Amino acid sequence: MLRIIVHGGAGDIRSEEEVPVCVDACKNACSTGFSVLKNGKSSIDAVVAAVKVLEDHPLFDAGRGSYLNEKGNVEMDAGIMDGSTLNMGAVSAVTCVKNPAELARFVMEKSRHNFLTGEGAEAFAKEMAVQFEPLQYFLTERTVNLHEKTLFGDTVGAVALDEEGKIAVAVSTGGVPFKHLGRVGDSPLVGSGFYANDSFGAVATGIGEDIMRLVLSVRIGFYLGEMGLNKAVAQAIKDLDVINGKAGLIALDKTGDISLYRNTEGMFYAYMREDLKECVGGV
Ligand code: ASP
Repeated sequence: MLRIIVHGGAGDIRSEEEVPVCVDACKNACSTGFSVLKNGKSSIDAVVAAVKVLEDHPLFDAGRGSYLNEKGNVEMDAGIMDGSTLNMGAVSAVTCVKNPAELARFVMEKSRHNFLTGEGAEAFAKEMAVQFEPLQYFLTERTVNLHEKTLFGDTVGAVALDEEGKIAVAVSTGGVPFKHLGRVGDSPLVGSGFYANDSFGAVATGIGEDIMRLVLSVRIGFYLGEMGLNKAVAQAIKDLDVINGKAGLIALDKTGDISLYRNTEGMFYAYMREDLKECVGGV
């Protein structure tokens, strides 16, 4: 059974011209990840491939197109988890790594640690020979000209189930616009921005400060046994009401169920299963 779901961030609705472009980009990321699964590769390979497509796309808040912090620089966070082993990797505050989710994978697979930040993460990235880009690469017209202090961005994430029944998740973000230097959101925090085990996998998006207070991604697991995936995801989003939090979640489980909920105006998403002819996407 092969499954993948990707998201391109929960937040305010974009301009009319941007909506179809962002939905198409999510479908493209979804079909890229699904092809990886169909080629017999692992769910980890699939989520990295899918997230990379969106990191390279200028209209999402991850990799190129990341929102700028208060100093006008990018500081990106990413996380990854292999549900079959509970291995995880994360990075925060990286400034010039082209694909932070790939770096998180290196942290998971090649370092002695789970989480590297800032300068140390970049030194490790050099050891791993990952691709770096100058600041100019990350800047886009959209991020440079952002006047309004919108609260949150267009983080990207993916959850996949492979032929061996293994679930993996990946997330990548530039964080929220105008953030304080050194601010780290939920995205690289295991349990909050992402979580996977042998039953389910989930990725969150929205206001990181809210998501981490409720450890939103792992929260689905609190309800899963009792309610099934769809209701568990809905309940996790409902739980945000206590703090008036804003977020979205994408998730899937080992039975192949896929679910997504949000309490924001929109959330770009796309998903794919073998019985579908093409990726289903929307906002
Ligand atoms: N959750 C991200 C953060 O707070 C932002 C987003 O999802 O767009 O860094």
